[in-house]
Amino acid sequence: MTHPKEERTFVMIKPDGIQRSLVGEIVKRYERVGLKLIALKMFVPKEEMVEQHYLLDPNWKRIVGEKAIESYRKKGMNPPSGKPEEVGERVLQGLKKYLTAGPVVAMVWQGAHAVEVVRKITGGTEPRSSDVGTIRGDYVLDSYQMADTDGRAVRNLIHASGSLEEAEKEIPHWFSKDEIVNYKIVQEKILYDVNLDGILE
Ligand code: ADP
Ligand code: MG
Repeated sequence: MTHPKEERTFVMIKPDGIQRSLVGEIVKRYERVGLKLIALKMFVPKEEMVEQHYLLDPNWKRIVGEKAIESYRKKGMNPPSGKPEEVGERVLQGLKKYLTAGPVVAMVWQGAHAVEVVRKITGGTEPRSSDVGTIRGDYVLDSYQMADTDGRAVRNLIHASGSLEEAEKEIPHWFSKDEIVNYKIVQEKILYDVNLDGILE
């Protein structure tokens, strides 16, 4: 088993994040917790890359649909469709438009429990209900309801891998091996050093 400090996760600042001038703010949030940036690039995604990215998990359409239906029911509302697969397909079409609308910034972050820590800092999928203090909770206000009314994907600034399994598929989907930099960063001495015996002279 690899040490938890070696864990890697994939993050993409979506086109609305670039347009809102939030690149610095978003990078800062992951940096300040102690994660290490090991890859970064800006580009306009191709539609087929976006589709393949979401379909890396064969159950994604169903799960995304179930999440949306559940959120409507919790609010005592009727979802526009009760069929998860159908909702998932609609979301996928919306995402293809959303993510190809302009440049994105793709990154790989490494550090202890990187997948979980990045998701915690990023916040829940729907900005309307994501916690205050998270990036999605603090910087945007979209909802499933607005997205459905306007027939588009929920705008929530960021994609972040949802599990280690997802991260392991998404990183090689967007980055070649030589785009990922293996290097040491001095703060790792404090975050992970076992004896903390390198400070005093
Ligand atoms: P997350 O990005 O938090 O992992 P999902 O993987 O469930 O969320 O969904 C991928 C993306 O699809 C979301 O970030 C959001 O932009 C969009 N999305 C999810 N559910 C819906 C929905 N019901 N309606 C519109 N867009 C959605
Ligand atoms: Mg997801």
